[in-house]
Amino acid sequence: MTRPLDPLLNTVSVPDNFYQVFLTAQNYVKNYFSSSQHDPQKGSIKFSGERYILVRAASMSIEFFDMMALLYKDRGEKEARTLSFNFLFDIAHSIGKADAKSFFEKMKVTDPIEKLSAGPIHFAYAGWASVKIHPMSKPTPDENYYLIYDHPYSFEAQAWMEKGEKAQFPVCVMNAGYSSGWCEESFGISLVTAEVECQAKGDRHCRFIMAHPSKIKNFISEYSKKAYIKHEHYNKIDIPEFFKRKRLQDELQSHKIHLEQLVRERTDNLKKTNQRLEEANIALRVVLKQMEQKETINKENFLTNIKQSILPFLKQLEESGLNNDQQILLDRLQINLNQVTSPLIGKLSSKYLNLTPMEIKVAGLVKDGAVNKEIAQILNVSLNTITSHRYKIRTKLGLKNKNINLHTYLLSLSG
Ligand SMILES: [Zn+2]
Repeated sequence: MTRPLDPLLNTVSVPDNFYQVFLTAQNYVKNYFSSSQHDPQKGSIKFSGERYILVRAASMSIEFFDMMALLYKDRGEKEARTLSFNFLFDIAHSIGKADAKSFFEKMKVTDPIEKLSAGPIHFAYAGWASVKIHPMSKPTPDENYYLIYDHPYSFEAQAWMEKGEKAQFPVCVMNAGYSSGWCEESFGISLVTAEVECQAKGDRHCRFIMAHPSKIKNFISEYSKKAYIKHEHYNKIDIPEFFKRKRLQDELQSHKIHLEQLVRERTDNLKKTNQRLEEANIALRVVLKQMEQKETINKENFLTNIKQSILPFLKQLEESGLNNDQQILLDRLQINLNQVTSPLIGKLSSKYLNLTPMEIKVAGLVKDGAVNKEIAQILNVSLNTITSHRYKIRTKLGLKNKNINLHTYLLSLSG
């Protein structure tokens, strides 16, 4: 059972087994606070030579929440409350840790319970709240650590109640932060505190559960089964986290670094792919160029062969006195041959686009040394037509009124 406040231990209420160690701590802290120096001329307040500052309680509780709500009006009530909550928790948790460390050194204590003991008493002397630790508490220096306690006269709950406002959420966040900071320093393990019931919202007391971050939800859930408020209330309890902002920033930072790494890898891969494509493109261009050159050489060889090996014999054949049928066959042969030697014709037509298909044929035959009569026969048109075509070809090639032989000129074009 919890021992009621007695004449000896009157600043804190603890289970029987903690009584003696807390009594020792109370004597120490009482002496510590009995030696005070208030020196407004220097703007200084000291207890046992240690400087303190006084802060108006309401400005660190209800008025702070109100101010943040106004500042973050555009982001909504919930975000403003979360920001205030995290900010005050972080501050109080840090102060709790620092105060604890300073006290251990002064008291020269090493045992975790002895370290813990000065906390609630210092808390009471500094005006935050009084502390009542419940007998169900099992403050072991490991992940099973469990502390359940009330803060009667919490400065935060009182600030709300004195303003006549009923809070919608447990408000004693600095109480939670300070006590978890002190105990974290005492036991050398991570500890968080959630206020599960709060007088400022109309509950019977300001009750806190302190545990390891990995266990606190389970402890709250267990507690809620026997509590007088409905189970759902405890599901909505905010569990503060010391420097949540830092964790979120660290996560954001590592996410950013990961993204940057991904972008770098993708960019490198793209660069390599582009380089391979460029190399493949160059190789392809070289192969195409070689194929083109080979094709040109083949065409030239083909034309040369026809000129040197076939045309002279056709000419001899024609001059050997052919009958009509033979002449017709020869003419057809020459027409076919003319079509086969089209690379020259193609060259002419691309160089002199204004030549008509008929003029290209005539030019091809002139270039090969055929006279007008032969061309007329081959193309099966009149001699006058050929004369007219030759005139037009000369005009289009810019040879009009010039003493340049068309056959020679066309030969020079074919290279
Ligand atoms: Zn409270």
